[in-house]
Amino acid sequence: MLRALLLAPPGAGKGTQGELLAKERGVPHLATGDMLRRHVAEGTDIGKQAQAYMEKGELVPDEVVNQLVGQAVAGDTPLDGFVLDGFPRTLEQAQLAYDWGQANNRTFNAVVSLVVPEDELVRRMLARGEQHGRADDTEETVHRRQLVYEESTKPLLEFYRQRGILTEVDGVGTVDEVAARIRAAIDALSAD
Ligand code: AMP
Repeated sequence: MLRALLLAPPGAGKGTQGELLAKERGVPHLATGDMLRRHVAEGTDIGKQAQAYMEKGELVPDEVVNQLVGQAVAGDTPLDGFVLDGFPRTLEQAQLAYDWGQANNRTFNAVVSLVVPEDELVRRMLARGEQHGRADDTEETVHRRQLVYEESTKPLLEFYRQRGILTEVDGVGTVDEVAARIRAAIDALSAD
């Protein structure tokens, strides 16, 4: 059963590819950004705590995010398989996810890093902001989010490389091309 994490900078196509991969493998797609945006739209307590951070392009505090993911991944009936998109995003979250996985015998078996040059990321995010009106796809926030990724999330690549489950995939191309590369990379990991 696939337990995968998509680890990539904002704008790399995690959401699109995560959804496709999850559908193909018959596992749920858990995207913390989508979950948080739903909470903000519905005005829940979690949404109220998260909104200001999201608008500025900062990370939402771990306690808030852990609550969202914890129940699904490590609650009373932990999921056998999943595609996580957007969590973990800090080393603290990664350690927690690992502890959950160990406790339930369900650690990740694939971490897919989508590699896209920064100028392409910025171009995609600004286009997405214009098309879909995402509140955090603005000129100021886009750069901040790239920096937050570099500082807080990129170190996770090394964490997973050391565990032997990291695979790096070229994220430039059509949706189908990238999806095919991800599929091949995951198959190669499981064949090792
Ligand atoms: P995304 O849709 O994955 O780009 O996430 C949008 C925003 O949600 C991020 O810029 C953060 O503010 C927040 N967010 C999503 N996932 C996390 C996470 N694991 N930890 C902290 N903040 C998160």
